[in-house]
Amino acid sequence: MSNRDIGIRHEYYECACDSDEHLLRFTYFVDPTDEIIDEPELYLNVFLDTRYGFWKRLWMGLKYAFGYKCKYGHFGSWIMKPEDLDRLEALLAKYRRFQREHD
Ligand SMILES: [Zn+2]
Repeated sequence: MSNRDIGIRHEYYECACDSDEHLLRFTYFVDPTDEIIDEPELYLNVFLDTRYGFWKRLWMGLKYAFGYKCKYGHFGSWIMKPEDLDRLEALLAKYRRFQREHD
């Protein structure tokens, strides 16, 4: 049984820089008529950068485990492609509509 069969939908948005490491994935759940289900939730997943080798990742993990905080924070970046704007706007409008209907 595929994700589509059980009502899981994904929409992917690549970064304008075309890096494989800059990818957003929105996930939501729908019923058999392709409408967002009763408790609409929209998830956003961000691909995590794995460009470092094992020891570097282990070192970074240990620093994280012991509460080290970088003064710049732990952020990546993603640049919206103008051609994806209508698609993202439609997704958010669909989510907003189902949120309003659910309330
Ligand atoms: Zn990028």
